[in-house]
Amino acid sequence: MKRVVIERKILERNDSSAQRIRALLKEKNIFSLNFMSSPGAGKTTTIEQTIKALKDKHKISFIDGDLETDRDAERIKALGIDTVQINTSGACHLDANMVLKALDKVSLDCDILIIENVGNLVCPATFDVGCDKNVVILSVPEGDDKVKKYPVMFNVADVILINKIDLADFMDFDKEKVKKEIKEISPKAKVFEISAKTGYGFDDWINFLSDMVKKR
Ligand code: MG
Ligand code: ZN
Repeated sequence: MKRVVIERKILERNDSSAQRIRALLKEKNIFSLNFMSSPGAGKTTTIEQTIKALKDKHKISFIDGDLETDRDAERIKALGIDTVQINTSGACHLDANMVLKALDKVSLDCDILIIENVGNLVCPATFDVGCDKNVVILSVPEGDDKVKKYPVMFNVADVILINKIDLADFMDFDKEKVKKEIKEISPKAKVFEISAKTGYGFDDWINFLSDMVKKR
């Protein structure tokens, strides 16, 4: 019983920081995205391709959450994007307090803020980091059974990108089953099939994202 109370307190503190993030980003008119997935699903590559498609029209800033390294942050920085690294020293998710601190360092002279969360399909889902939209990436090699196995993550998703779709035929990945389960668990989530490697599906995803940025 005691453990539950402590967890609730942690989440309450997190939510108040998330509200501060929301207020700050709203005041600056910044549209924000929180990318989540398991390790290796292609978050960084998807973010790279997304930034390449948008950076001529929009100013973008980036916050990377990773356990120890700055490998992913370096890839985004190489695109000329203002980047801040959060190393969680082993913590398996970002929380709103970490993001709030990173907002002191990253350029807020931007119209899109992208956050890459720690690769993990479990607890990042329960820590609101104050973004406009949660983008969850499910990659084909992970298998078509993940939506029901990690319902909390898929439930908090506003957008679900099914990545590495070019591998679907080789891997017995049942797209229709995945989409049916998404409909059950997350009926409002917008779903796109993409391949960050080949660029497949990016036109639709980028158009959708551009629309959201316009409407912010
Ligand atoms: Mg990454
Ligand atoms: Zn965690």
